[in-house]
Amino acid sequence: MSTFPYAPAPESRDIARLKPSYQLFVDGKFRDGAGDAVKSINPADEEPLAEVAEAGQRDVDDAVRAARKAFDGPWSAMSGAERGKYLFRIARAIQERGRELAVLESLDNGKPIRESRDVDIPNAAAHFFYYAGWADKLDYAGYGPSPRPIGVAGQIIPWNFPLLMAAWKIAPALAAGNTVVLKPAETTPLSALVLAEIIAEADLPPGVVNILAGGPSIGQAIVEHPGVDKIAFTGSTDVGKIIQRTTAGSGKRLTLELGGKAANIVFDDAPLDQAVEGIVNGIFFNQGQVCCAGSRLLVQESIEDEVIEALQRRLATLRVGHPLDKNTDVGAINSAAQLARIRELTDAGEREGATRWSPACRLPERGFWFAPTVFTGVSQASRIAQEEIFGPVLSVLSFRTPDEAIAKANNTPYGLSAGVWTEKGSRILSVANRLRAGVVWANTFNRFDPTSPFGGYQESGFGREGGRHGLAAYLDV
Ligand code: NAD
Repeated sequence: MSTFPYAPAPESRDIARLKPSYQLFVDGKFRDGAGDAVKSINPADEEPLAEVAEAGQRDVDDAVRAARKAFDGPWSAMSGAERGKYLFRIARAIQERGRELAVLESLDNGKPIRESRDVDIPNAAAHFFYYAGWADKLDYAGYGPSPRPIGVAGQIIPWNFPLLMAAWKIAPALAAGNTVVLKPAETTPLSALVLAEIIAEADLPPGVVNILAGGPSIGQAIVEHPGVDKIAFTGSTDVGKIIQRTTAGSGKRLTLELGGKAANIVFDDAPLDQAVEGIVNGIFFNQGQVCCAGSRLLVQESIEDEVIEALQRRLATLRVGHPLDKNTDVGAINSAAQLARIRELTDAGEREGATRWSPACRLPERGFWFAPTVFTGVSQASRIAQEEIFGPVLSVLSFRTPDEAIAKANNTPYGLSAGVWTEKGSRILSVANRLRAGVVWANTFNRFDPTSPFGGYQESGFGREGGRHGLAAYLDV
């Protein structure tokens, strides 16, 4: 088949309005941190983007103190309707600066502009809109009359959806009447610090939201701080375990959103073209750096060859390359460390006997890149079937019966998400009921909506974000 070549269609990087340096946001003011400033780099070419102030212990103390003062003062005295107005204001400002934020996010994270523009930023705004609507209706949320906020929430987020994760954390916390100290990930602090500008322009009372850039030691200082009442963490299971140990017995509330190894189950009666799109979206969206990624494809044996062939044909059309090009499907890996982890696990997959396949694609010479990869002949016990790779790597396993599919899908220490592809509604319901996963998508994958709860079982963590359930994590219930 002859095809037309794609002409480059780059979004202008000027839209991001990058500043040479970014500061911390504490008590309503921007300031330098007690730590050494660091450079945030563009993972697509390893060029520095901006200098970012890093917090130290003093900044954590000041931020927590400011959050407490705001909680004891203006924020608690304010009606839910007034709090809601601030959230609506933030939501509108995110929309107004959507293009800028999308380009900034793609520069700092490496994700394709198509995704930051169409998924990350609109969803971040939608989260603020959604929780703004709850702020004056908490009495009717099903948590008893006049539910009380918890207090000061320490929130620690990862690098895979920097602004969206900040929205998932801040919006419900404020709607429920809490104040916040948030720490973005060390490799992607920029969009959270622009969100701080938006929050300042929305005229939120000082101290209601504080944003501290910094690494693990700053996360740890927030977790250990006696002035923090609740910790909300999204990130790796290993760090989640450390945080759980640290907070045990401290009286702090805790919610953990950790890793996953989702099964995407395709039955032989599934609409195959649609399923192939769902498989691709499930694992190659955001370069597979998604906690709920459909990283294990479980395909019914009778259609395995047909599905693999169709999948390979589709993957050959994916465009891997410059994140700011509007035609790009697969962008850069977020960091050298993450790339090294993907390489280590895929090498282990080959050593353990699985067959590796990638479409022909030329990767840029500079930056952190990994070609979309499919492993077939994967055994259940192998590392690529058990461990979260957090990269554009799909492990294919097959099954014969629904019982076998469910047993294999549940054979994981995680339990965050799963997908079911079949024409039969009854099968969707019976399989979904038996899958140990917080989210089960039917005939679709990786769909997010602020109204629906999200969270895991087992080593994927506990607590729910999103929807009415997401309020419970920030109310004294
Ligand atoms: P991480 O858990 O190391 O970091 C996540 C956040 O926690 C960052 O802001 C980090 O600075 C902070 N942090 C690190 N150590 C801390 C500590 N001891 N106390 C408090 N905060 C701490 O995750 P990562 O290094 O960004 O990624 C490593 C792995 O985590 C990935 O390979 C992937 O498996 C997983 N991950 C999962 C998600 C998810 O959404 N579930 C997101 C990102 C990464």
